[in-house]
Amino acid sequence: MRVSPRKVIAALVAAIALPLAFTTPVQAGGVDDAFAKILVKQVKGSNVQKHLNALQAIANANGGTRAAGTPGYNASRDYVAGKLRQAGYKVTLQPTDFVEGWVENSAPVLNLTAPGAKTYVPNDDFFTFQPSPAGDVTAQVQGVDLTLPPTPTPTSTSGCEDADWAGFVPGRIALVQRGTCAFAAKVRNAGNAGAAGLIIFNEGQPGRTDAFPLDIGEWRAGIPMVFADFAVGNELASTPGATVRLKVDSTLTLGKSDNVIAESRFGNPRNVVMAGAHLDSVTAGPGINDNGSGTAAILETALQMKLFPVRNKVRFAFWASEEIGLLGSEQYVDSLSQAEQDKIKVYLNFDMVGSPNFAYKLYDGDDSDNAGSPAGPPGSAEIEKQLERFYDGRSLGHVGTDFDGRSDYGPFIAVGIPSGGIFTGAEGIKTPEEAALFGGTAGVAYDVCYHQACDTTANINATALDVNSDAIADSMARFAFNLSAIPPRS
Ligand SMILES: [Zn+2]
Repeated sequence: MRVSPRKVIAALVAAIALPLAFTTPVQAGGVDDAFAKILVKQVKGSNVQKHLNALQAIANANGGTRAAGTPGYNASRDYVAGKLRQAGYKVTLQPTDFVEGWVENSAPVLNLTAPGAKTYVPNDDFFTFQPSPAGDVTAQVQGVDLTLPPTPTPTSTSGCEDADWAGFVPGRIALVQRGTCAFAAKVRNAGNAGAAGLIIFNEGQPGRTDAFPLDIGEWRAGIPMVFADFAVGNELASTPGATVRLKVDSTLTLGKSDNVIAESRFGNPRNVVMAGAHLDSVTAGPGINDNGSGTAAILETALQMKLFPVRNKVRFAFWASEEIGLLGSEQYVDSLSQAEQDKIKVYLNFDMVGSPNFAYKLYDGDDSDNAGSPAGPPGSAEIEKQLERFYDGRSLGHVGTDFDGRSDYGPFIAVGIPSGGIFTGAEGIKTPEEAALFGGTAGVAYDVCYHQACDTTANINATALDVNSDAIADSMARFAFNLSAIPPRS
């Protein structure tokens, strides 16, 4: 990429203004404002579109997909990493695991061995959770915050909260009740608590009593795990000192897929401003809106920011394996020490920013949309407000979108990192109110090609892509120079 002398001069002029700006609190019209205006001009929709064309060409050359673990993903990784290296970023490839294959070699075993003896019936009383690692363990069972008898409607939070595990004795087999949080979250918590095996049983209300086979996409506790019916769980819970043999006979094969992490050479490393987009597609298609759009927009923002004398460290992440369970972003956040997590002051997520029947949806940092999930961590409301100001400044509408855990911000908000971002909609249906606000067609999905082979470069609204790329540029530039709106974390 060539950089015009005019841009270099503009960056240098602004850099000279920096010491002055730092002597007083940075106000609107300060250095952050100046750089935001420069960057918004530099980030052009036509250049973002060029990255999409490159990703489409990669998919075309690799069987129509860029899914994790495929050559199309690796070519996407090399494209993004190459551009960022050329621009002078410090680029790291972080290998992350995903499940490449899983087979169960023989039926699982769950036997009460003391007091007394009882054999539970595999694939009836209980099923192996796919993709459980293999294991054969005999140990005492310990119930984890069980609600017995069950309440008339589901309320169990068994194994969801850290406090549930406070008295757990490592080496025992955890007995956990279904409810509230995802099975995968209970599995991870059991692993962190040192459980040697895991039995999750159905919660016990009508319709929630039987066991059934289930792929929960989680294996990282490294222990054998089964899903039992309510009767099994209830019986074990009411048997003092129950000891069981739990055996899973499976072959789990893990593949590797790389996150691409790029960091600015400039900026205070104690204050990191981060933007992320998942780089993988589903296997069914090339994933140009989902999520070539977010990828291309943050890539072009990074390339155009390369000469900025940023005050805070700027980090761009291109996540692996989002489509198979946020695996890239989760393993990234897990790999950070508490101190490294604390340095990340802002995380911005961009997953689908060019939907053909778009709405400008901003992650609801202040919970003003009153949807299912609570507000984001402190600071998220301020991130949402800053993005709102961009759309307001162009007299464009915007709506809130719930932090429902469906993209890579999930692991960040789970550890309290202020987060936000833009989303133009997936398989959901556009409302008449949104059609009035944004144009397009009410009663039709925001993206009719969501997770399909037709998610190609033809599946992009060029206006939405251009506007949102500018919004990303504006936001990243402002936070790169000024974090005063974000409250410090304790
Ligand atoms: Zn996505």
